[in-house]
Amino acid sequence: MQPSPPALRIIPRDQHPISRKNISPNALRVLYRLNEAGFGAYLVGGAVRDLLLGQSPKDYDVATDATPEQVKRLFRNCRLIGRRFRLAHVVYGAEIIEVATFRANDDDGSGDRAVENGRLVRDNVYGTIEHDAVRRDFTANALYYGVSDFAVRDYVGGYDDVMARTLRLIGEPAERYREDPVRMLRAVRLAAKLGFSIDSASAEPIPALAPLLAEASNARLFDEALKLFMAGHGARSFELLEHHGLLTDFLPDTAAALALDGSGLCRDLVMAALHGSDARVAEDKSVTPAFLFAALLWPAYAQDLQALLQQGHDMVVAEQRAADHVTLRQGSRIAIPRRFSLPMHEIWWMQSRFAVRQRKRVFRLMEHPRFRAAFDFLQLRASVVPELRAESDWWAQAQTLPPDQLAAQLPGKTPPAVNREAAPDEDKNKPRARRRRRRRPSAGTGE
Ligand code: ATP
Ligand code: MG
Repeated sequence: MQPSPPALRIIPRDQHPISRKNISPNALRVLYRLNEAGFGAYLVGGAVRDLLLGQSPKDYDVATDATPEQVKRLFRNCRLIGRRFRLAHVVYGAEIIEVATFRANDDDGSGDRAVENGRLVRDNVYGTIEHDAVRRDFTANALYYGVSDFAVRDYVGGYDDVMARTLRLIGEPAERYREDPVRMLRAVRLAAKLGFSIDSASAEPIPALAPLLAEASNARLFDEALKLFMAGHGARSFELLEHHGLLTDFLPDTAAALALDGSGLCRDLVMAALHGSDARVAEDKSVTPAFLFAALLWPAYAQDLQALLQQGHDMVVAEQRAADHVTLRQGSRIAIPRRFSLPMHEIWWMQSRFAVRQRKRVFRLMEHPRFRAAFDFLQLRASVVPELRAESDWWAQAQTLPPDQLAAQLPGKTPPAVNREAAPDEDKNKPRARRRRRRRPSAGTGE
């Protein structure tokens, strides 16, 4: 089914709330310069949507009828990027205004489009503003604001949808999801972020089409995971993924582990982690992908670990295998970079070490660079498993004590952390042997 030809609705300045005061001066500069050179130029996408909602956009996209080369000639601070989609970036210090030429979906043969092995490797078929509007994903994302008349241009009914807080795919929903399965995740993410509801015709095909996520690139799915879970609305995103039947195909191990867990504690842990990181984002505190994925994949890791221990493997071997299994399986869907998966493993491995009260081991754990994250993770687990509270409280208290007082409470030899100042020579004589003996065996991840 072809979408009907778009009819233009112009919402004049006195009938919409977007004011230049709320727009980045650099974005305005780009619009004015393009207009002065005789080109059409509009703010489009998330920025217009957010401005209509009274929120401040995190970045600004401009759509124009100038080609990337023409844009480059107008701005000294412009660089062209991308091969598949050629774009102009106009750079003002830390702020980048992304300028894209109106794009068309249909290629009449005159445009620059190339397919290699079934994948679109170049897609620079330029079109009109109408073409550009209908190839966007949601109506709310297809509104254009220009500075020639300060009006909002709406070709797809997006203005009313924003006002009604509805996400509606442009065109035939199943067809648009097949074209790009990541749009299913974008629907959930934008609904969670904006508090919008997904129109029923746009929501209906999602559960049946969810397996198409397997075809999306795992690097793109990692980016989408960060936007879903680390932008302050992670708990809501997770609930909506479950509600729309996307969890099994997005986080297969997590979905399987939650289904196996009759107690519901695994889901409680995941939700507690997401609520915790949402609260941190709200307070402008940092959140790390390592901690977040440690929580999302903990249920799968813990179940794998139990199974390996029951098969008679020793703890350290079982921990490494479980971590490798889970990371490898999830990696086929979401490519978690090693700079996050390695600390995630360390957070997991340190959980079993918290049970040990031997003096040297306690101090060694506290000096570990990942101790803080691992302790936060223990607290997270204790928040849903009451039996862990005594352990978590013990470590909380241990961190408040001066080292000599803590050492005095613990069985075992005086740890190096305490006698380091008292006996520097001893440390100097033996550091290499000591470090080598204590290093963990390699994680078996290929290095
Ligand atoms: P956010 O506020 O989270 O950045 P956004 O809507 O701006 O949300 P972007 O990923 O920045 O999202 O995309 C910018 C615009 O590009 C969108 O508003 C939409 O018009 C278009 N777009 C992005 N991804 C797609 C897609 N997969 N299919 C069609 N159009 C898309
Ligand atoms: Mg955006």
